[in-house]
Amino acid sequence: MQRARVLLLNAALGPLDYRVPADMAVEPGSIVVAPLGPRQLLGVVWEADRMPSDAEVGDNRLRPLLAAADVPPLREPLRRLIEWTADYYLAPPAAVLRMALASTSALEGTRTAIEYRATGVVPPRLTPQREQALDRIGERQGLIRELADIADVSDAVVRGLVKAGALEAVEVAIDSPYPAPDPTHHQPDLSGDQRTVADTLVADVAAHRFRPTLLDGVTGSGKTEVYFEAVAEAIRQGRQTLVLLPEIALTEPFLKRFAARFGCEPVAWHSGLRSTQRRRAWRAIASGDALVTVGARSALFLPYRNPGLIVVDEAHETSFKQEEGVHYHARDVAVMRGRFEGCPVILASATPAIETRHQVELGRYAELKLPGRYGAAELPTIEAIDLLRSPPERGRWLAPQLVSAMEETLARGEQALLFLNRRGYAPLTLCRTCGHRFQCPNCTAWMVEHRLTRRLACHHCGHVEPVPRACPECANEESLVACGPGVERIADEVALLFPEAKAAVITSDTIWSPAKAAEFVARMEAGDIDIVVGTQLVTKGYHFPNLTLVGVVDADLGLEGGDLRAAERTFQQIRQVSGRAGRGEKPGHVLIQTHSPAARVMQALVTGDTEAFYTAETEARRDADAPPFGRYAAIVVSSEDQACAHQTAVMVGRNAPRVDGMVVYGPAPAPLAMLRGRHRYRLLVHARRALDVQDVIREWLGGLDWPAKARVTVDVDPYNF
Ligand code: ADP
Ligand code: ZN
Repeated sequence: MQRARVLLLNAALGPLDYRVPADMAVEPGSIVVAPLGPRQLLGVVWEADRMPSDAEVGDNRLRPLLAAADVPPLREPLRRLIEWTADYYLAPPAAVLRMALASTSALEGTRTAIEYRATGVVPPRLTPQREQALDRIGERQGLIRELADIADVSDAVVRGLVKAGALEAVEVAIDSPYPAPDPTHHQPDLSGDQRTVADTLVADVAAHRFRPTLLDGVTGSGKTEVYFEAVAEAIRQGRQTLVLLPEIALTEPFLKRFAARFGCEPVAWHSGLRSTQRRRAWRAIASGDALVTVGARSALFLPYRNPGLIVVDEAHETSFKQEEGVHYHARDVAVMRGRFEGCPVILASATPAIETRHQVELGRYAELKLPGRYGAAELPTIEAIDLLRSPPERGRWLAPQLVSAMEETLARGEQALLFLNRRGYAPLTLCRTCGHRFQCPNCTAWMVEHRLTRRLACHHCGHVEPVPRACPECANEESLVACGPGVERIADEVALLFPEAKAAVITSDTIWSPAKAAEFVARMEAGDIDIVVGTQLVTKGYHFPNLTLVGVVDADLGLEGGDLRAAERTFQQIRQVSGRAGRGEKPGHVLIQTHSPAARVMQALVTGDTEAFYTAETEARRDADAPPFGRYAAIVVSSEDQACAHQTAVMVGRNAPRVDGMVVYGPAPAPLAMLRGRHRYRLLVHARRALDVQDVIREWLGGLDWPAKARVTVDVDPYNF
């Protein structure tokens, strides 16, 4: 009898043993359906021929596996990655496995699905619900369930629209093959520097062995162009490449650029895919047909059949750090995947993280540099505007110097970008009469006014309310004031100063899909926008040759937290947004509005002395024994009941083991003391790097009695410390 140990997908349990029916063939990695109580769960065979010990359930009492899926088994390197991730980030293996299987519908064998799209026919009976549905569905296509979700109506409303002829069925093939990228489609002429770097990367891919490389090149130096050469080599070898991007908004321009180089688009993987698209992509990835996949961090755990190269683009980006569910850092897991798969990993960045540079210093990662911009493009000049010495007019946010630079830019027919990392109109609304402030009922956060939608919104939990006419506290009708600027308020000021100019606000509120991003790119390229006012969404990836001026509205914003990462984060963000200026033949200019022009980070930005800045920041980390030297783990205890959260956190702290090289701080209210209605307390564990802190925490938390109302999450290598 064959006995298999199976890791189940949805269970909080560890792997369980099952009997393999005689007519079923399984091997390690096989995806199977297994019974659990009355349920049927998807799982993966972890050990195929298990010899039980005497104490275990006897063979005759084992339940049989129900079915084996008709897809390739998960390969050993991926299974090791799942184990490693679960172990390192203290997460349940099943939660990591879920990311690899990604969509259980991918496992269904069907070859076609029926989707629906609008016909343009107006149904005879146009109820408000039907109208809303047609309005929201627009040009989109999807399964009934998906369209109902998009339109926020019931399935029945969508079915009614089908019956009425307003939506029609479309048959989509799920296994239709993806076109193969052609490595010779359009080969660029690389500059000398670029050629040298590309040759090294190509040789790494040809050698097919693990080697992480930091590709450190200034914005516009041609990093993408150069790593495309490595991708071309992987394609020639018939091996798969994964390119990770930090934002799904960057996917669309990337697809276009990739198609220009290789003749067709790569396979895209992100949360915006329809389930049929997801299914098709998953199967092509698992079969090896998808030669190049570009995706958000979730693409990292997919079951590539024969990976030959992993690229993490904009590798310093904080969005690679997942803060929900399994708390992992995609940059670091990408390197581990490369190690298990035995393939090169390229981390591309113009502003590498201190952690990554440290790996280079230790000799663990190779480093390749592209010091100058490609072609005639020069790096922009950067100047600080001292807000204390030349402040904006009262009630305004743009200093005179920035305004006149904008005037000159527009007069030359060029484009300008104003960067402020704050969505909405104003970050805080208060009552001038009684001092009432609008706080989110679920979070320790102010409600942010959005004028475009006339609402107050919480940026943490998504709670929204209409903006009231009167103060809810004192009922005064004309006393609510908006404090401080958000991008919408800056856009108002722009409209006032430059009534003739065409301005656009670019944030996650206005660019919420790849299609919206594509629309923005097209408008910029057509010169249909003169001034962009945007959040961090516009800081990376985009290449607009006619954009020559960048104004940073509040450079001090990121420094407010005062944590050890603040300066690094500010440096990266402002360098990135500066990188949008002067990417073509026209020179770029950057103006930074700050109250502290003498601060080290502002000086580094203005002088461009990156090395001195990094050295000083690294020393500060060393002095504090902060990462990359010492390490942190955050333990967050949360509960809807504040007393329970607090008491549990205190109990955890009291039971902290005494371990040489480890110190536990707290509990203290977490940085967001209340989030989505849950009160949160944080214990911060600081440990020497050599200590197996995960092991200590596992034993410590595993031995405690947890109240049913409390929940604990552990964040190993938290971004904030
Ligand atoms: P980075 O990724 O370093 O910001 P990109 O790869 O986006 O730089 O290159 C910046 C711009 O220069 C792009 O428009 C790119 O197409 C162009 N470019 C870079 N290298 C070359 C080359 N060798 N030949 C033609 N165009 C190039
Ligand atoms: Zn909230």
